[in-house]
Amino acid sequence: MWTNNRLVLASGNKGKLREFSKLFSDFGTEVIPQTDLHIDSPEETGLSFIENALLKARHASAVTKLPALADDSGLVIPALDGAPGLYSARFAGSNASDEDNLKLLLDRMNALRGDDRKGHYICALALVRHSTDPDPIVVIGRWHGQIIDAPRGDGGFGYDPIFLPDGLKETAAELDSETKNQISHRGLAVIELRSLLR
Ligand code: IMP
Repeated sequence: MWTNNRLVLASGNKGKLREFSKLFSDFGTEVIPQTDLHIDSPEETGLSFIENALLKARHASAVTKLPALADDSGLVIPALDGAPGLYSARFAGSNASDEDNLKLLLDRMNALRGDDRKGHYICALALVRHSTDPDPIVVIGRWHGQIIDAPRGDGGFGYDPIFLPDGLKETAAELDSETKNQISHRGLAVIELRSLLR
């Protein structure tokens, strides 16, 4: 599929590097994080997760002249018009911690009950063969659940302590990481990407 056996990952996140390296090792492809190549991230000006994932992949590919993979993820609450959405990482401000973001979300949802507490995590993955690839491979994973009133568990990150996945009694922060990775938005997106690459 590739003209060479190297792919740049438009992220410096160690966990993502591990996950994607594993996925691509089956195809004999080495995954290089863009931070190793001293590449910055572009401004995320898209209006959707897909658009931002594509922006990041195209940017990394334009700079390195290598195929590139990018992901963009976040939490969507339909009753809040999709917030925190693209701003999930900085919902409570540019220097906000996970805890600040989670507290703000609980505050905003204070008066919401029943179906209005439903939400889903989303992960968009975009893979471009070159920076102007007109036919990129794009997949989306969604993980549905609801937002509970108070945090539970200390695993995971972000909004996991208040995210109760559909069909489970544990919050995402109470699941062990292997279980979470198998059923999460990111896990589902990776499974789909794998099946498309085969
Ligand atoms: P990123 O795409 O890894 O930068 O994630 C964006 C933001 O979305 C994170 O900072 C979290 O606030 C939220 N997020 C994405 N995936 C997860 C997850 O699996 N658990 C909790 N929060 C997540």
